[in-house]
Amino acid sequence: MEKQRQGKKRHLVVVPAPLQGHLTPMLQLASILHSKGFSITIAHTLFNSPDPSNHPNFQFLPFSDGISHQATDSISSHNIPSLVSTLAANCVSPFRQLLLHFTSENNIACIIYDGFMYFVESVAQQLCLPTLLLRTTSLTNVMAYHYIHRILAQGCLPLQDESVVPELEPLRFKDLPTFNFTNSDVLQNQLNIVQRGIKSSVGVIFNTADCLESQRVDELRQIHQVPIFPIGPFHSMAPDSCSSFLEQDYSCMTWLNEQAPRSVVYVSLGSIVTWEEKELTEMAHGLANSKQRFLWVVRGGRGISVEEWVKSLAEEVREAIEERGCLVRWAPQKEVLAHVAVGGFWSHCGWNSTLESLYEGKPVICQACFGDQRVNSRLVSHVWKVGVEWYCDDVVMDRREVEKAVKTLLADQQMWERAQELKRQLRQAVTQGGSSHEALLHLVDHILSIS
Ligand code: UDP
Repeated sequence: MEKQRQGKKRHLVVVPAPLQGHLTPMLQLASILHSKGFSITIAHTLFNSPDPSNHPNFQFLPFSDGISHQATDSISSHNIPSLVSTLAANCVSPFRQLLLHFTSENNIACIIYDGFMYFVESVAQQLCLPTLLLRTTSLTNVMAYHYIHRILAQGCLPLQDESVVPELEPLRFKDLPTFNFTNSDVLQNQLNIVQRGIKSSVGVIFNTADCLESQRVDELRQIHQVPIFPIGPFHSMAPDSCSSFLEQDYSCMTWLNEQAPRSVVYVSLGSIVTWEEKELTEMAHGLANSKQRFLWVVRGGRGISVEEWVKSLAEEVREAIEERGCLVRWAPQKEVLAHVAVGGFWSHCGWNSTLESLYEGKPVICQACFGDQRVNSRLVSHVWKVGVEWYCDDVVMDRREVEKAVKTLLADQQMWERAQELKRQLRQAVTQGGSSHEALLHLVDHILSIS
């Protein structure tokens, strides 16, 4: 049975978006489908391009994007929408050329594209090629977009209301993923793109699992009447390969090996969010005052040199870092979260980080900032109840709050036990007979049936 579902070397063209939190899950999905027998070609931008040497089983085809390579460091929450529209404006023609050339020599079963690369859909339609859409966020986040349509019609922008959106409980209006839009035309355009991508695809793939979002899966199926494939967490099913833009510093694993079980809080706020120096300093004081051990990813940015900043800290904080801390620029996060010494994760609640933490049964301090992070934070803290919510826009970074949150994270036994139960369910979901494993088999059948 399993054998019949192998992809029999059908060809898939995969188009990731050039952001860390998007590229990683797309390459993981590609690895999973490769293990099912499909040939994989990654069509990618030159900007933030993946390293082919890390993925010897794939073919890589770059297309031009007209973006300066210096732009990598300047990606922030504020310019992601403009990056997405710039890609759409610049990439249609080069991508079309690439696809025309490629289809003349290969038989493509399907194109799988990231929702941020929405220009792919129109090119594929012109060439009569079927598309599958990958949304790299939670499914609840995509449902939230659906309800924003209605809220917009009622003229409720900007969305800062504390009250709960009835259909999305426990999400509040202020949790909705609006990317700081204050202009309803821009937002409407964004919403149309999301809806159009879903409707025009032969299916939508989500990096999620039934045990996390089953009710939303059913709702989305009913609304859009397209096949939905919840087959996550991808990272647990994908053969390990690195897709980091920054080099992962493995020295922290040696440091972790020397720490007691559940004694360390891992602090990492993703690849995009940056902090002012004074906020980092409050974090450092709070971590030092908590008297707990900490592994902290400090990327710097905004003109901050990490070395200079550490030198400028008060003596007792530098001593605490020396005695109980480990600072790195970029960590091997999946390995860190799997380590027995890590008792909790202070996270920005990017969807990949959230899944990686849940899969390892690690409770979370949820410090969401923008986009889907607020949705994820609410799910972690109020639906699965494995996190402490800390809403970025509402609080000034304060050392006493940091100290309190870190202590709670490591001491709350009930939260820890709920996290272990969710870990058990997620592991079951990806093994034979589990919901994600079954959904993957359906996806393979589906691709074979359309091609
Ligand atoms: N990550 C990592 N090392 C770090 C910090 C992050 O490898 O020091 C990885 C993490 O495992 C995750 C990705 O970077 O897969 C971040 O994606 P996420 O969706 O969590 O957040 P984003 O960076 O998109 O905001």
